[in-house]
Amino acid sequence: MPPTPNQRLERSRRMLLDALNESFPATRQELSRRTGLAPSTVAGIVRGLLAEGLVQERESADHEGRGRPSSRLSPSRPPGHLVGIDFGHTHISAALATTGLEIVAEDSVPLDVDASAGNALDQAAILVSALLERAGVPSGSVRRTAAGIPGPINQATGRIQSATILAGWAGISPREELAGRLGGEVAIANDAELAALAEHTHGAGQNVSDLIYVKASHGIGAGLILAGRRYTGAYGASGEIGHTLVQEGGNQCRCGQRGCLESVVSIGEVWRQLVAAGLPEAERPADLSLSALIGHPVVARIVADAGRTLGRVLSDLCNALDPAMLVIGGELASAGDPLLEGVRESLRRFAQPAISDRVQVRASVLGPRAALVGALTLAAAAAAP
Ligand SMILES: [Zn+2]
Repeated sequence: MPPTPNQRLERSRRMLLDALNESFPATRQELSRRTGLAPSTVAGIVRGLLAEGLVQERESADHEGRGRPSSRLSPSRPPGHLVGIDFGHTHISAALATTGLEIVAEDSVPLDVDASAGNALDQAAILVSALLERAGVPSGSVRRTAAGIPGPINQATGRIQSATILAGWAGISPREELAGRLGGEVAIANDAELAALAEHTHGAGQNVSDLIYVKASHGIGAGLILAGRRYTGAYGASGEIGHTLVQEGGNQCRCGQRGCLESVVSIGEVWRQLVAAGLPEAERPADLSLSALIGHPVVARIVADAGRTLGRVLSDLCNALDPAMLVIGGELASAGDPLLEGVRESLRRFAQPAISDRVQVRASVLGPRAALVGALTLAAAAAAP
């Protein structure tokens, strides 16, 4: 039986609210593009949502401060707090924020997260309790927690599905484990996907609907925003570009293959090459950040090489998806221009001209905090009406 006009309107309304909750502020045109609804339908639904107080409207100039101010919509926020957690390979970060995404408390602890999922989850719970206590916020005020995990998550079961990428976590459901430790409802996503969401909502990619965020760190992963929405793939394993073969018979990778992208350009491998090229081991900072060494000729050359190798893999991805922007993040991105220039050089060589002429390559604006900000953004979306 075909849906009645009322059912159709209700479905469109839900679709529009979901699209807005996932990524805001947004203009009416953006919402029309993301949902596929006609502009007149979007205008009618938004009028109703504004009248009900479920959505707020604000005038704002565009990102560069040029042009006519546009009217941007955001979901209205209920009272209470949100918790975001980012599990990296070598640290856990957590933040407590209001539902309007103002951060109240934030902290981080170094930890080998891959070694033991149980220990990492326990440490995350301790970190969150400490933040609540420091801010004087009762745990009952937390409306939703969201966490980023550096591995593929099966969307249907919520379990970590790869024994090779995050071995200590295989088969575990971080959502259930964290809910058991913290109480309340928990949302989980891959960390590169969360970073992509954060850069799209609050960072470098606010004015584009299609972007690829690349986390170039101890591993290499990508998060996709397509048509304004987070894209996870059918089974939650989209964007695992780190295990693309780039060097036949190359270095052994932690996945068991040889010559994977991340065995050539991960931050650890780049540091190994720098030390082999004569850079004193003593200059290596604990967080492996390259920012202190910008301008060093050996660093510039090795990092540009890494950028070119990364760009070779990204060219194929760009040919397939035609994104408006590539946002490069993770510790490797702290090397700045030489890395981005290496990526651009490969795009010019290997991507179709129609794509390489237009795609913007930018450094992450949110830096090491991108996944954490994305976790809070996801928590806000999940807690919304
Ligand atoms: Zn691999």
